[in-house]
Amino acid sequence: MTHELRVQAVSQVTDRKPLPPKVPQRLEALWATDVFTLSKMQASLPKDVFKSVKHTVKTGGKLDVSVAGAVAAAMKDWATSKGALYYAHVFYPMTNATAEKHDGFISVQSDGSVITEFTGKVLVQGEPDGSSFPNGGLRSTFEARGYTAWDVTSPAYVMETDNGVTLCIPTVFISWTGEALDKKTPLLRSIAAMSKAAVRVLKLLGHTDIAPVNSSCGAEQEYFLVDAHFAHSRPDLLLTGRTLFGKPAAKGQQFDDHYFGAIPERVQVFMQDVEERMYRLGIPAKTRHNEVAPGQFEIAPFFEAANVASDHQQLIMTLLKMTAKKHGFVCLLHEKPFAGINGSGKHVNWSVGNATQGNLLDPGDTPHSNMQFLLFCGAVIRGAHKYGPLLRAVVATASNDHRLGANEAPPAIISVYLGSQLENVFKQISAGQPESSDHAGVMDLGVDTLPSFPKDPGDRNRTSPFAFTGNRFEFRAVGSNQSVSGPLVAMNTILADSLTWIADEMDGKMTAGMDLNGAVHAVLKEVMDKHSAVVFGGNGYSEEWHKIAEERGLANLRTTADALPVLKADYIEELFDRVGVLTPVELESRFDVYAEQYILAIEVEAKLVISMAKTMIYPAAVRYLSELSNAISNLKEIGIALEQETAEKVAGLTKSMTDMVSKLGAALDKHDFATAEEHMQYSSQTIRPLMDKVREYADALEGEIADDFWPLPTYQEMLFVK
Ligand code: ADP
Ligand code: MG
Repeated sequence: MTHELRVQAVSQVTDRKPLPPKVPQRLEALWATDVFTLSKMQASLPKDVFKSVKHTVKTGGKLDVSVAGAVAAAMKDWATSKGALYYAHVFYPMTNATAEKHDGFISVQSDGSVITEFTGKVLVQGEPDGSSFPNGGLRSTFEARGYTAWDVTSPAYVMETDNGVTLCIPTVFISWTGEALDKKTPLLRSIAAMSKAAVRVLKLLGHTDIAPVNSSCGAEQEYFLVDAHFAHSRPDLLLTGRTLFGKPAAKGQQFDDHYFGAIPERVQVFMQDVEERMYRLGIPAKTRHNEVAPGQFEIAPFFEAANVASDHQQLIMTLLKMTAKKHGFVCLLHEKPFAGINGSGKHVNWSVGNATQGNLLDPGDTPHSNMQFLLFCGAVIRGAHKYGPLLRAVVATASNDHRLGANEAPPAIISVYLGSQLENVFKQISAGQPESSDHAGVMDLGVDTLPSFPKDPGDRNRTSPFAFTGNRFEFRAVGSNQSVSGPLVAMNTILADSLTWIADEMDGKMTAGMDLNGAVHAVLKEVMDKHSAVVFGGNGYSEEWHKIAEERGLANLRTTADALPVLKADYIEELFDRVGVLTPVELESRFDVYAEQYILAIEVEAKLVISMAKTMIYPAAVRYLSELSNAISNLKEIGIALEQETAEKVAGLTKSMTDMVSKLGAALDKHDFATAEEHMQYSSQTIRPLMDKVREYADALEGEIADDFWPLPTYQEMLFVK
């Protein structure tokens, strides 16, 4: 029966026509039409109210409650004019998901009539019943109150779905005692902490006019599209986002004929649809192309302030999935949907800067800006070395484990790629004579002992997990499914810590009489003396690097089970506490939640492996065997001997698979773990290998059993039938 589904799917897919492309509209006409922008506020709010809101938006300060009522009223008028009857506080729980609670604008009057109403109070603060969101023990159920509070720095927007239009308000999600229950709160804190430390360093460099420093993020999202007819006949794709079984197709990606190739028409229409939605939501879609694997694509928006970029990233993932459905696709954001085929990542491009000094990771053209750049770049190097395991831990998920180190994505060893020119500059600093006696006024200092160099963005090394790319760092180990918040929090936090250290050191040295030039040089030299081990310009995929990295003392945390416990290490706890991003309790809750997610993800997959092997693959094998044995004995009756090898092989593989399924089932029965760490290791070292074994036999069966008995859409069909 299932085999018919598969055949039907193939013919339905072949018959599919792309949806007609939308009538193209001018970008200016689309741009941010669904966003309650500052200019819309300006048009609808009294002058003084607008001024107050604008100040809050620009500085990230607290919204003056006295103006909230007026803002709420204007927002409601705008949203209802767009057809919204409901509003939602949107928040980002510790899962990678986006959550929202919808409430109607409806207010029933005493005479039974209704009006729409939206007060300042409900705009600013909401109280979803948050008890079922993972909180890592931060709240027990009887005190399940969690609050959402409007993050004024991220604009409200309307979201149109088949179910109607909803006003969406980006919010933080905190417990009633003020603990962060979400991914946005730590991000906002990390930006503030980084800004404070960066401003100190800029002051020491002699700047007097210094705007708040923000971090920016441009994230490149990779994804797969599979026709819905195929995906819907694969329980594994539907439930886990990846194929738990499947023999590689004869043709994979060997020919490199997909990368940057012509985008298939149906996909192109889909992409345009996504981009139009993005433009309406004020998300600056910029780049689209085919990726390395067949059926794999990438979309990248132009970079934005980290907080907004992070909210937009969540929206992009939602839009990709939602729009795919409309076009008869299922969009897979899993890091490794197909074994043996390149997986998907999300490169997070990150820099820091402000309105007065610009991008602080831009080398600029003059020696002075080189000096500033070298300090900020040195700060990142120090952070990546000191807290490399943290950078590894924030990209640790069950699904990303399939990708990191699989020769298509950076290894689990965190190193920094600088490019040969910059690497050389830092080497010179390490070797050079530090002091300069030249005293010619603050802004002129730094000329003689620091080499000046132009920026060279051309140099690329795709095998590095953390690469400097001209005027930013690109964190390439991030998973396609992940929220970018965690990685951004980690980068901002380690930078805040390093900049604080730099400011303290420079302060000390300059108070003791050293000039600015000498102080900068001494600090940079110390950074390189202690932390240059993390700088690596070679091939990150090579075996040799694994050896060198070990000699250099760099951690190689291969699995999530190895990496997540880093969050419990004292030096990480002290880092987050000191910088003011997460309290020890908040950090521990994150470990608890992520560990649980890891364990659950593997458990769900393992259960599905068992049920698919038993109810889909085993029956197919047995039916085929019965047909084979009938043929063998029928032929024997008329004196023809048919080879028995195939039947024996199929029987053997079936038996081996069934034995392995029993072992996996028994392994899943173990529940007595002393700690989450122990349980994670068990999932990683016992459950996962057993799942792989079951798959090995099942995939071998796929190569033996007659095609018309095979119940699951094959790799060949899913990746190549369009
Ligand atoms: P590539 O595929 O070559 O790595 P893309 O052009 O696909 O590069 O993506 C680069 C991403 O980096 C884009 O989102 C871009 O906006 C972003 N980006 C560029 N400059 C910065 C910066 N200073 N800070 C953060 N992101 C940046
Ligand atoms: Mg990139």
